[in-house]
Amino acid sequence: MKIIASPYWEEDVQICLHEFEQPSDYYGAINPPVIMTSLFAYPTYDDLLKAMKDEHHNCVYSRGTNPTTRFLEYKMAALERGESAKCFSSGMGAITAALFTLLQTGDHVLVVNNIYGPVLQYLTYAKKNNISFTHITGDCSLEIIKQHIKPETKLIYFESPATMTFKTLNIKELCDFAKSKNILTMCDNTYSTPLFQKPILAGCDIVAHSLTKYIGGHSDLVAGCLVTSHKIMDEIFYKGYLWQGSVMSPLSAMLGIRGLRTLPLRIKAHESNAIAVAEFLKTHPRVLAVNHPIYIENKVSYDEIYGTTGLFSFELDTENLEKISLVLNKLQTFQKGVSWGGFESLAISPHFGSYDPIKNKGVPLGLVRLSIGLEDTNTLIKDLDQAFTYL
Ligand SMILES: *Cc1c(COP(=O)(O)O)cnc(C)c1O
Repeated sequence: MKIIASPYWEEDVQICLHEFEQPSDYYGAINPPVIMTSLFAYPTYDDLLKAMKDEHHNCVYSRGTNPTTRFLEYKMAALERGESAKCFSSGMGAITAALFTLLQTGDHVLVVNNIYGPVLQYLTYAKKNNISFTHITGDCSLEIIKQHIKPETKLIYFESPATMTFKTLNIKELCDFAKSKNILTMCDNTYSTPLFQKPILAGCDIVAHSLTKYIGGHSDLVAGCLVTSHKIMDEIFYKGYLWQGSVMSPLSAMLGIRGLRTLPLRIKAHESNAIAVAEFLKTHPRVLAVNHPIYIENKVSYDEIYGTTGLFSFELDTENLEKISLVLNKLQTFQKGVSWGGFESLAISPHFGSYDPIKNKGVPLGLVRLSIGLEDTNTLIKDLDQAFTYL
């Protein structure tokens, strides 16, 4: 798969580092102030009432809008080329706020490609509200997608590259089709970050991020974000956000802002490190397949994707989960842990010792997922090589 350099790179780096910040407004401090406050006081009661008419755009209460968090929201909206962004206390907080707001009783959701497991569990639970979903994995061509559309399909929810399998979709074609049928589209863009893929420019309505991953970047933050149009965000702001209350703390917002400062540098290092490790795995006799977007035959047009990051998976030539555990136990530099996108390399089996057909549909038993961190690649390759001798 050929990937082109982002035509937005220079602009995006400016957004990550400087855009929307005004040091002269806060004593010349090069970082924005962390405004820890629950409420915002107004000189007159009339001023307060006026502000309360639009809690989305005025600072009234920090469950609504906070100035520190707003710096991060402006940057995320600009990076995705969307109109409006809202930050949440986690990626799941962001995703479920959108689903809670947009889905009504009787609606159907088409889930395309492997996606983050807990979102499928949430959709399964939403059946109690008579919201149904269909999940397609494997061949997710437009022809197959069309076959699963129902009159009550309200939303197509997808990830590309997909969680665990890293298969990609032609999101432009998918979103054009959805628009023609008046169906909303929502993309979890956590893998690519806004630097390597811009789903809104491909016609997607809503983009979700777990900022916990590359944007935080140091495994010290749990946070999420939605980017969409003003119209959709106005609705999500009051329902899924303000009422459900999955609010980002200003301290977390500052970690997100700090993460963006080095994201352009880190993302390229994760990318080249991961490709080096993937190339090693590709030649190893015990490895059946390497699921890295660069090797996957796919229909993404080159102008939709500007790079790959540090996350990919590979398949060992065993279906014995105990043997997989043994190999994982023998890894020394790779830490064993969930999540990804930080400085440290991680390895897991997505099955965690047993097969769950809802969470892990379409995921082979021998699959191991790696999050390639910022260590030297020789250290990582040697670590994998010695652990494979126990297979
Ligand atoms: C981690 C993750 C989420 C959930 O984000 P949290 O911040 O953990 O709530 C959603 N989607 C993807 C692809 C993720 O990796």
